[in-house]
Amino acid sequence: MALDEPAPTVLLEANDLHKSYGPVHAIRGVDFALAQNSYVTLLGPSGCGKTTILRLIGGFETPDSGRMALAGQLLDGVPAARRPVNTVFQSYALFPHLDVTANVGFGLSLAGLGAEEVATRTADALRMVRMEEMANRRPHQLSGGQQQRVALARAIVNRPKILLLDEPLSALDRKMRKDMQIELKDLQRRLGLTFLHVTHDQEEAFALSDRIIVMNSGLIEQSGTPEAIYRHPESAYVADFIGGSNLLPAKVVAVVDGKATVECAFGSLISPAAPGVGVGKRASICLRPELLVLSGDAPRLAARVTHVVFQGADWLVEATAGEHKLLVRAVGAAPPPEIGSSVSVHCDPDQAWVAAGDPPIATPLMAAGDG
Ligand code: ATP
Repeated sequence: MALDEPAPTVLLEANDLHKSYGPVHAIRGVDFALAQNSYVTLLGPSGCGKTTILRLIGGFETPDSGRMALAGQLLDGVPAARRPVNTVFQSYALFPHLDVTANVGFGLSLAGLGAEEVATRTADALRMVRMEEMANRRPHQLSGGQQQRVALARAIVNRPKILLLDEPLSALDRKMRKDMQIELKDLQRRLGLTFLHVTHDQEEAFALSDRIIVMNSGLIEQSGTPEAIYRHPESAYVADFIGGSNLLPAKVVAVVDGKATVECAFGSLISPAAPGVGVGKRASICLRPELLVLSGDAPRLAARVTHVVFQGADWLVEATAGEHKLLVRAVGAAPPPEIGSSVSVHCDPDQAWVAAGDPPIATPLMAAGDG
């Protein structure tokens, strides 16, 4: 943020939230803030507590302890129906026997608004999601993406302060999902609302978010802009979850001014490091495939090519050195090295990154990097 830019206004603040379901401690003390007019994603693997956080904000679950305040008002005891929050679900949950207009206006009519106001607001919401021309169709006459747009219109029609989106695109095919990502981001900007979107797809999180909250087993592992999460993962867990990074065990010898001296398979490197990295603590060196080259000066690692995958714009080469497997992105039209050939993989220590924690066990590198 530029120095003269005002700090974003906090819309929702959560402090030390805990939630258990019987013996399962699903949320184990999380703090976060959602800024007004922002697109935030909760990113993490299945079961890490993402949906539980949405349900706590929506008022469908009550926290065991901790506080949430929305626009400065505590949410304790405020029932779901009285929270200025709406949820869009993965299954669009449209009424099959009602047309698009009736689906969108249903809640407003139920709340007792006059017919004219219902009609005006419904038309506005349908315009926002570019569905006004399909106002008279029934859900079965719409594509998945169009049904999702109706579900969005229904969720924004009563002007919530926060829209909660629980894996809203997961039922769509890849092409439709990409198109809807652009539409969702565009809709959020045009409405100026705060969207909180749950996903386990890092590409989706990158495409949409002003801010990503990465979760791990009921805790927040890291929160930041997509670029910060990608370039400066604080832990090996985050580096691994967002995919594509080569992670090697590293022994930290010294830390000075944000740079760590580490011993790793490449020998001794001095590289920028995450704040939690310290001498005597477990650490990993993160080497992005696009920052490695297949031949070069020291620091380098002698390896053998074990896989080559054509990816359109480049080649993804897997090079194996003893117990270590490295993915290298080889850009350019030149043919890639042959499988079985020897290479000496070079890394630039200034482009490497030291994150806290051990590398995860046996990541299938090709699967992680080629998606
Ligand atoms: P997914 O991506 O699979 O939807 P998630 O990150 O949204 O997962 P949650 O649905 O929040 O995770 O679940 C967190 C943990 O709480 C999981 O271990 C889950 O099994 C458990 N859990 C969630 N809801 C309940 C419930 N109603 N009763 C018991 N356990 C629950």
